[in-house]
Amino acid sequence: MQEDIMEKLDKHDLRKTIIRKDVLKIFVQAEGKALSSKDIEQALENPDRITLYRTLRSFEEKGLIHQAVDGSGTSKYALCSEDCTVHEHQDDHAHFHCTKCEQTICLETGPRSPVNVPEGYIVRRSYLVLEGLCRRCANP
Ligand SMILES: [Zn+2]
Ligand SMILES: [Zn+2]
Ligand SMILES: [Zn+2]
Repeated sequence: MQEDIMEKLDKHDLRKTIIRKDVLKIFVQAEGKALSSKDIEQALENPDRITLYRTLRSFEEKGLIHQAVDGSGTSKYALCSEDCTVHEHQDDHAHFHCTKCEQTICLETGPRSPVNVPEGYIVRRSYLVLEGLCRRCANP
């Protein structure tokens, strides 16, 4: 686990500071669940907010985490797959947002529904969000 974290930081050109190790560990432990900055603040027991914000920004820039847009209005981040690099994110997957417990998870890439874009339009990014109940909320 610890080694895994060190390796990831190396691979993504990030110096190994304590906060980076701690934050990355929280993402690894989340196992595909997206986390808001509030979730991370709670897990770290009141870290310096600016440092945390910078840490998230550098992780996003270096291809370690991506924004999981789930329509809830809260910015959430999730750990990237091994395919993301310092230069390019490859997170072309959908996210599932549970409307009951508010949890958001990354979904495996499946066939994406084709959307017709009017002629002359250029698509830069797209977000696919599925809303509903997670397994735990669906079977209380
Ligand atoms: Zn990514
Ligand atoms: Zn749920
Ligand atoms: Zn994701």
